[in-house]
Amino acid sequence: MSHSKPNILLIYTGGTIGMIKDFKTGVLKAFDFKTLLDKIPELQLLDCNIETVSNKPIDSSNMSPEYWVEIAELIEGNYDRFDGFVVLHGSDTMSYTASALSFMLENLTKPIVFTGSQLPIGDLRTDAKENLITSIQVASLQKDSEPVIKEVCLYFEYKLYRGNRTTKINAEHFQAFASPNYTDLAESGVHLKVNKKYLFKPNDKQPLKVHKNLDNNIALIKLFPGITKGVVESIFNNPNLKAVIIETYGAGNCTTESWFIKLLEKNITNGIHVVNITQCSGGSVMMGHYETSNRLKEIGVISGKDITTEAAVCKLMYLLGQDILSEKFKSLYEMPLRGELTQN
Ligand code: ASP
Repeated sequence: MSHSKPNILLIYTGGTIGMIKDFKTGVLKAFDFKTLLDKIPELQLLDCNIETVSNKPIDSSNMSPEYWVEIAELIEGNYDRFDGFVVLHGSDTMSYTASALSFMLENLTKPIVFTGSQLPIGDLRTDAKENLITSIQVASLQKDSEPVIKEVCLYFEYKLYRGNRTTKINAEHFQAFASPNYTDLAESGVHLKVNKKYLFKPNDKQPLKVHKNLDNNIALIKLFPGITKGVVESIFNNPNLKAVIIETYGAGNCTTESWFIKLLEKNITNGIHVVNITQCSGGSVMMGHYETSNRLKEIGVISGKDITTEAAVCKLMYLLGQDILSEKFKSLYEMPLRGELTQN
C-alpha cells in the first residue's frame, strides 16, 4: 500500500445502502458488496487508497453486541495498516453501533466514520453516493501526516456528527440524524468545513485498547402517565438484571408516588444501577431542580445528564463489562468518557 495517500478501509455491514429490491416480493434485502462498489466508479477519483472488507451483511435492526465486537475486531486487526475507516451500516441502529464502538475503542487516534443511506445506491435519487464519497474524504483528512479526526463519528446528509451524540430522527427524510446536544463536527458544502474546536482530543500517548466485554443485562423503561407498578416491578424482578435506564420527563422528573420511589430505592440498595435520562431529544437531566426529581438524587440514581438513549445503553453495557467497583460506577457513568455527555 502507498504511504503518500491515506489508506482507507471500507467496512460493509449491510443496510439500505447496499440493498436491492426483490422483484417478486418488492422487499429490500442485502446484496453482494462487490456489486455495490461497481455502482460507484467515482470512488476511483478520490485521493486515497481504498480497500474493502465485508462483514455478514445485515439489516441493522438485527444488530447485536456480538456484531459490535466483530466490527471492533476488524478495526483492531487493520488498525496499523490504515489511516481511517468508513463503516457502511443501516441507519436504523447506526447511532447505537457508533456509540458502542466509541466506548469499545479506547485511545482511538484515527477516524471511524459511520454512514449509510435512506435509498439504495442503485436508486436514481439515491443519497448513498454523497454520503459514501464525503465519508471517505472525511476519513482521509490529514494535517502534518496525522488524521484530523480521531474519534467515532457519523456522516449523513452533508453533516458530520460525533457518533455517540447522534440519534435517528426521521425514517423518510434524507436528513435522518441529529445531534441535539453537541455541535456538528463538520459540514459539507462547497467546502468541507471542520469545526476543529469541537473535535475529540484523545489520549494519544496510550495505545489503542479494544474492550470486547459488553454486558447486556440491562433494561430501558420509558415513563408515561399511568405506568403501573406491576409492569415496573416485573422488569426489576428479572434475576439477571444489573442496571436500568429510566427515560424520565423534562429535566429528569418522574412520579413521586411512593411505590415507584421505594422500588428504585430497594433495588439501588441491592446493587442495581439506575440511570436517569430524559425523554426530551434536547437538554439535560438536572436532578434536584424540581421536587419531582429530588428524591431520585437522594436515593443515589445516576444522572445521564444530556446523553442520548443510544449512548446511555451502550455506556451501560460497556461499564458493566468492566468490573468496576460499585462505589466508582456512578461517578464514572456521570463523567464524559468519549465526549458523550456534557459535564456541568
Ligand atoms: N432497515 C435499514 C437498516 O437499518 C434501514 C437503513 O439502512 O437505512 O439496515
